[in-house]
Amino acid sequence: MTHSAIYLDHNASAPLLPEARAAMVAALDSSGNPSSVHRHGRALRNLIETARGQVAKLSGAERSQVVFTGSATEAITQAIVGGAKALGVAAIVVSTGEHLAVLKAAEATGLPVITVGLDQNGLIRADEIASAIAKADAAGQRLLVCVHLVNNETGVIQPVERIEVLVGPTPHYLFVDAVQGFGKLNLEFASRAPDMTAVSGHKIGGPAGIGALLVKGHADAARLIPGGGQEQGRRGGTESAAAIAGFGAAAEAFASRFHEANVSALIRVAEDGMRAAAPDLVVFGEKADRVGNVSNFAVPGLKNSVAVMGLDLLGLSVSLGSACSSGKVGPSHVLAAMGVKPELAECAMRLSLGWSSTTDDVEAFLRGFGEVVGRHRSRHGRAA
Ligand code: PLP
Repeated sequence: MTHSAIYLDHNASAPLLPEARAAMVAALDSSGNPSSVHRHGRALRNLIETARGQVAKLSGAERSQVVFTGSATEAITQAIVGGAKALGVAAIVVSTGEHLAVLKAAEATGLPVITVGLDQNGLIRADEIASAIAKADAAGQRLLVCVHLVNNETGVIQPVERIEVLVGPTPHYLFVDAVQGFGKLNLEFASRAPDMTAVSGHKIGGPAGIGALLVKGHADAARLIPGGGQEQGRRGGTESAAAIAGFGAAAEAFASRFHEANVSALIRVAEDGMRAAAPDLVVFGEKADRVGNVSNFAVPGLKNSVAVMGLDLLGLSVSLGSACSSGKVGPSHVLAAMGVKPELAECAMRLSLGWSSTTDDVEAFLRGFGEVVGRHRSRHGRAA
């Protein structure tokens, strides 16, 4: 990110919070291995345990339930691949709107994968989960149900409480990918129903390359990397004390910083302004409850690759939808699952704000958006 560029892509990765940076620098300056018993090792161990408490607090989990992993993708894989094996499930249930990390992990189990759809507002069809559970109950089988809390592309908040009730009283297991809701929504539920919950450092102003799996009860047996028995045998590999300390400091600072930025109001201003410039604007998931920081929108006929490039040239960084597939440009599987036609999905862009966003950022975005839409109209001779 250059100094003049405006960053509007927090769902891809939030800028590092100063609190996280300070904690990381302090940890990087300390030598040692956190498993060593001498004072250097113990100092790093203390940093890790402080961070464990900070992540537990933000998620509503117990400290002992927090297992640090190398990313949320790793936590998800531990939950699904490791969980399926340890918990003896017969099949995995996923929604079509899951992040690729979930879809690929489900595939990697080698077990049957039962896919449930999204409705046109982007909500997981909980009734389809109910039918999958009813069938499994009749067959005496146990399922691992994997859903996300907030969609990374649309910001739609999923009916996780309803899904918890469906899975809860039965012998099935629930995994929640809470990456995009962590710190933004109340995660109290993490202490209640899900057996496993994944969260990520870099979506809350911590560093990338650190995540956590929150585990409860029998799910504590889910394993992916045995290694040297770190994380109480739940995830091998010498811990990155700096990444963990940064994650912990971000977990402590993020929620108040995020709420102070008043991103819901900024997103409303952005959507109203875009509609004034392009009355045919489509906002995906608009009718559902959305976490306030995201807008996934399209101007019919204006290809997202053209618009995102045009905005980039004006110093405005927005995304084509999901940034998680290493720069891959392709139709969004989330929008396809919502029944969005491919020609409209090719026009979808994502604006995602966060702790560092300001009114000036949104005003600059709206000026850039107006310019890009105006250029498109004059080229194609279309009104609106
Ligand atoms: N799940 C969701 C919903 C995400 O948005 C992302 C990242 O974009 C991930 C999982 C993966 O997180 P990480 O980058 O920490 O592996």
